[in-house]
Amino acid sequence: MTHPGYVLRNGDIVNPESTDSFVGTVIVDGDKITGIEKGDVEDVGDRETIDCTGKWIIPGLVDLHVHLREPGFEWKETIESGAKCAVAGGYTSLCSMPNTNPAIDHAEVASFIREKAKEAGFAKVFPIGAVSKERKGNELAPLYELREAGCIAFSDDGDPVWDAGVMRRSLEIAKDIGAPICCHEEDKSLSCCGSMDECGHSYRLGITGFPGVAEEVMIARDIELARVTGGHVHICHVSTARGALLIQRAKEDGIHVTAEVTPHHLMLSHLDVDGIDTSYKMSPPLRAPADVLALREALASGVIDCIASDHAPHEPDSKDCEFEEAAMGILGLQTNLPIALKLIHDSVLTRERAIQALSFSAAKIVSLEAGMLRPGRPADIAIIDPNQKWTFSNSLNLSKSQNTPFLAKKSKKK
Ligand SMILES: [Zn+2]
Repeated sequence: MTHPGYVLRNGDIVNPESTDSFVGTVIVDGDKITGIEKGDVEDVGDRETIDCTGKWIIPGLVDLHVHLREPGFEWKETIESGAKCAVAGGYTSLCSMPNTNPAIDHAEVASFIREKAKEAGFAKVFPIGAVSKERKGNELAPLYELREAGCIAFSDDGDPVWDAGVMRRSLEIAKDIGAPICCHEEDKSLSCCGSMDECGHSYRLGITGFPGVAEEVMIARDIELARVTGGHVHICHVSTARGALLIQRAKEDGIHVTAEVTPHHLMLSHLDVDGIDTSYKMSPPLRAPADVLALREALASGVIDCIASDHAPHEPDSKDCEFEEAAMGILGLQTNLPIALKLIHDSVLTRERAIQALSFSAAKIVSLEAGMLRPGRPADIAIIDPNQKWTFSNSLNLSKSQNTPFLAKKSKKK
């Protein structure tokens, strides 16, 4: 028996495609949206009614930057556990990074991820293929084959594409395929495996610094390669004001550049790092308060297109150690939306821009038909209560890992 459908009534409908918001009704039949109306609708047939008074009806969110850890690191996260976190966080689509083991550098791994995601249900998962074989940066992966197998973008994330010639060639092919190269921007001869931002605070803590310029020189390189190839460079997790400025100028020059920022780079600064709590260790690291302000402005104005989590689960053994030894990265899928709500509350972003940055703008970068509320489109919808008080706790956490500074800490017994 097929479900008679749903009617979502009296919700505050936020459609980032048109930036048009109104109180109204969304009608869903099967897996498709069949109607969006202002105000209420009298005759709904035998569809199930869901009262959304006081709630926002938004498109299911889209995350361009997620580490699902499967295959190869299933003790940190699996496709199923990651997809569950996603749905709990308002996401219906996510893109999974290729630093798995084996890496997503051949068709079988991409197909495996798509099948596993389908089996798991929950969110839709779109694999991102590696740019280079084994993500080693010196020999191109079979990009055409990966595209055929469903990869929607390419990246060596976790590492930069070392070789500028490989990067140039990948951009030429990516242009032909119509997919972006997603860049983890880090010149490792400058970042020196640093554990936090290079600043007065890192000197005082005695922790090796990862300077902003290590990121900025690579952003500049890849912008210039996008200029000569006409390929699409997507700059991952921008962390500095200078990086955002380079992107702004490239856009003004008409170069095909897009960019993302993480919620943690919008909320925290290097002053939050105490050198002990390893949940504040990520790559790129948290930067200066002035960088945080610049990133907020760049996101609000659209210079930075979207918010992506860089959801990076790690088991306790990788984090319960000296700060400099600890693995990089934090969870994000369940905390992105609450952080965006905080940014709306603090007037950093308008509601429409925040939802757009979490959905429509992200989908557009990888040409996904997602992030919009439109009749005829898949019923990827999230209903959220913007006034609900919410504290992220272990009992709410659906990840296999717990590494996040946004998790309410249990007080340690003395
Ligand atoms: Zn990265």
